[in-house]
Amino acid sequence: MSGAKLAASILSADFARLGDQVKLVEPYADMLHVDVMDAHFVPPLTIGPVVVESLRPISPLPLHCHLMVEHPEALLEDFAKAGTDMVTFHLEAAPEPETVIAEARARGMRAGIAVNPDTPVEEAFAYLDRLDNLIVMSVRPGWAGQDFIEEVLPKVEAARREIDRRGVPVDVEVDGGINEDSGRRCLAAGATVLAVASSIFKASDPALAARRLSVLARAGAEER
Ligand code: ZN
Repeated sequence: MSGAKLAASILSADFARLGDQVKLVEPYADMLHVDVMDAHFVPPLTIGPVVVESLRPISPLPLHCHLMVEHPEALLEDFAKAGTDMVTFHLEAAPEPETVIAEARARGMRAGIAVNPDTPVEEAFAYLDRLDNLIVMSVRPGWAGQDFIEEVLPKVEAARREIDRRGVPVDVEVDGGINEDSGRRCLAAGATVLAVASSIFKASDPALAARRLSVLARAGAEER
């Protein structure tokens, strides 16, 4: 294990100063995580490809779009054109996950599946051989700033066990309520990516918060 990664989730950033906020955390983050919500799959409405297109030239970090939307396949073309490196869609929103994975790859993007807290993680196992990323949601999707749901830790462990058993290079990402404390427990359970929004961008010093979480991610994965 070469160390886990930190994904800075811009959901909690100040969108009027988004470029500056990204630059603050860029030295410590391994990727930018963009939470896309459509007011159907989840109640809130957030951002889409135009914001990804604006971010693309200002940061060399990989852009990972987490699509909390119905019909994710309909948006793949626009996200690919905007410069997205990886898309993760929700298993609950995709009746034919194989098709979405194949269409994302055909457009040059890496692919992931996300599962909500109430969805058994085992439902994603059938697709592991074709995935780069598996998000185990650690809050109900839709809002930043929620408390981490402890009950998802066994799902992280189960995903890690199955991925290791198959020997496939799939990241296990936790998303929701991640801070240094919950992040440490997720790393111990086998997570390899920590997606963090509020604990970075609502911190008084986002760069320091990102640096501390980055150090934790690298060390935490090595302790396993
Ligand atoms: Zn997310």
